[in-house]
Order: sequence, then structure tokens, then C-alpha cells
Amino acid sequence: MFCWRNEWIHPFESMWSIFEKFKFANQVNSIEILCEFGTERVKNLKVLDGSEIRNLYSMEGFDINLLTKAFTFNVIEHNTYSLETIVDVLKRKYFGYECFFHDTFVYCQICMSEGHHSLFHQFKLLRKCPFHMCELIYNCPNCKNKIRYMLLRDKELKPFMCICGHLLFRRSVGWINLWSTKRIINDPLLLEWLNHSNRGRRLYFYENKIWENIRGLEMCLEVLEKSYIAEESNRNLNTRINKVEYGWELNDKLYALVIDVFKSIDRHIKKSLKSEHKYCLNKTRKYFYNRNVEKNCECSVAYMTWRNTLLVADPKYWEYIHLGVRPTKFNHGFAIPFLMIHEQIDHFVDYWRMNKEIKTTKDVTALKWMIGRITGALLIAYWRVCQNAVIESRENKNTLGRDSLSKALLIQAPCIILHMYPRLVVHMYKIRVL
Ligand SMILES: [Zn+2]
Ligand SMILES: [Zn+2]
Ligand SMILES: [Zn+2]
Repeated sequence: MFCWRNEWIHPFESMWSIFEKFKFANQVNSIEILCEFGTERVKNLKVLDGSEIRNLYSMEGFDINLLTKAFTFNVIEHNTYSLETIVDVLKRKYFGYECFFHDTFVYCQICMSEGHHSLFHQFKLLRKCPFHMCELIYNCPNCKNKIRYMLLRDKELKPFMCICGHLLFRRSVGWINLWSTKRIINDPLLLEWLNHSNRGRRLYFYENKIWENIRGLEMCLEVLEKSYIAEESNRNLNTRINKVEYGWELNDKLYALVIDVFKSIDRHIKKSLKSEHKYCLNKTRKYFYNRNVEKNCECSVAYMTWRNTLLVADPKYWEYIHLGVRPTKFNHGFAIPFLMIHEQIDHFVDYWRMNKEIKTTKDVTALKWMIGRITGALLIAYWRVCQNAVIESRENKNTLGRDSLSKALLIQAPCIILHMYPRLVVHMYKIRVL
């Protein structure tokens, strides 16, 4: 029999927290936990080495029945459900939880003084404790090292202890009540975030730029709350196909699609500038060919920068400068036009293929629809980047070079987060939850 109360487990409490409480209440160490609750395979190991058996996200080293019996509660289900709820809109097939949660231990000082640690603290999009709104701590206050987020191996370690011997939670009396206190989420952004869970919407973003952005969570929410993005690209996308297309043929179609979206957005921007800037557009165009001509209109400089950096300096430039030319029938390597954005589109297609096999006509339609959207969103984001770059170049900063423009577009990456409509997409695009 173990000493345990179910009211000590709170919503979204981490397995680290649950195990440390268990160790504390029963005066056991991590090795004894593994010996008691490990799977058959773990129990047969000569040395309880290896980090995978002590992983507190996947919990693969632990036996679900033994744990459920001891805790009279399915703690593994609690853990999985909490993790899945937090990352529902970000979920990708084949991506481990370590993609969204820190692999080192992150905690809140006030929570820890009550012996509580939450999966919210581990979630990369949060920078404050959602219960106390204070900054999170990433290192041990004593040895200043990072603590790995896992069941630590050392036999000598007391509960809530860093490997340097520092106790993160120390209390000899009153802890039973402390552990049973209910906690309220005070972070409005997190509440909003959790509201989006299980609605079938998925966010796509390029690389992991979003984790580095302090406004990452806000930016995600902004996109989630919009009903759609990249309206401009909408018109071209009513493509209907009768048979499943794949391989080179599909590659060619996607290539053409990206060019079509470019043309449509190009037309749109030009039209919006034409009435006021007809004369200066002409002049600026001359400037771009002959630097002796004076440039004086920022709007048209921004436009020419946008168009030229997309088209010129691209090895394939001459193939699509006359945009009427259709792409080759030799698109074996899945080439995507426009050097400035092709990497992002490639990344998206990889993401898509990773999550969904292209099997039916519906899959192809969905993929085309999304590539159209993402291309549109990227081109519009890039248009904003160019406008800002022109404004910044007033102070003689070299913001109009290809490198700095491309960098600026990367920082904009969260704005290409894709809102996948439940209405249109969910039935064709569903990532199975574990
Ligand atoms: Zn806290
Ligand atoms: Zn330490
Ligand atoms: Zn002008």
C-alpha cells in the first residue's frame, strides 16, 4: 500500500510533479519508482540506464496498470490528455512532444514553493506561469545548471532535488493541504488557447521561428481567430480534377499554381498602386535598370523591390520572366519557383506529406488549396516586408538587400500560419490523436 491522495493531482500537472510528490509521501527514490512501476522490459534491465525509460512525456518506460493501481487513477492518461490538449492545434504526426515542450526542467518559483509543477511551464509558447503570471525559471538557482526533464537516475537524490543537492521544495509540515489547493489559470491568452483545442484546426508554421518569438502565442491566436487569410489568392483555386494526380504531373501543376498565385497578387498590388503612382512606377522601373534615374516614390520602390527580388536573381528567372510560359514537363525534383519563398513552400509540402498521404482526388484538391493559400500568405507577408524595408532604408540602413529582406520574411513566418478550416479541411485532413 502506498500513501497517496487523488486530490494531489491537478489538471495539467506534470508527471515530474506527480512522481516527486509520490517519492516525498512514500520516502522512495527514482530507482525504486522504476523498479516498482517499470514495464517488464525495464524491470529486466541490468542497469536502469538510458533516458528513454525515464522519459516523462512518452512515459514509455512505465507500466500503465501498475501505475493506475498505485495511484488509483490513470496518471498516464492524465499526462497524455494534458499534453494533447495543450498542443492540439500544433500537432504533427511523427513529431515528438519534445518539439513543443522543453526537454529541460522549467518551473515557477511560487508553484514550486507549494510542490507543484505544471506542463504549462514546460510548454515552449508560454513564458510566464499561467497561475501566478510571474517569469519562469530555467536553471537551478544553486548550481545554475539546467535540469533535464525526466525521472532522474540518482539513488541518493531526495524528492524535488537537483543533482547538485539543492532542494526545490522543502517543507516538513502543512504539505498535505498545500498539495490539495486548487489552482486557477489567470492567463487570458492561455485560456483562449485551450478554447481552440479539439476544434479540428491546425496551425502550420515555417520551422521553429515561432518558439523564438516573444509574441508567439499572441500571433498564433490572432491567426486562429481570423476566419481566413490570404483572400487574394482565393480566385484561382477553384480547380477541379477528375483523377488522382501524382508524381511529375502533380509537381508541374503545383509549379504552375504558385506562378498563378504570384500573377494574381502581382495584379492586385499593381492595381492598387496604379491610380496614384502610374507616373512614378514607370520612373522607378527605369531606376531599377539604370541607377542614374532619380527614384523618389517609396511606394513604387517597394513594389519594384518586391517584384524584382522575387523574379530576378533566381536561376530559373528566364524560364518564368514571361509568366505565360508553362513549367516544364521535367519537374522531377519538385522545383518550386521564386527563390525568396520556395523553401517555405517546400517545407509545407514536406509537412503535408508527413501528415497525410496523397491518395485521393480530395487530397490533391486540399493540397493545392493549401499551397495556394500559403503562397498567397507568403507573398503578401513579403509585400509588407518590402514596404517596411523601404521605410527603414530612409535612415540609410541597407534593408533592401536580398539577404536582409529574406531574413525579415523569416521573422514574419508566424503570419503564414495556416488556418485549416474545419468546414473545408477536417474531413480530408485529420491527424489522429494518439
Ligand atoms: Zn506559478
Ligand atoms: Zn542544482
Ligand atoms: Zn508614387
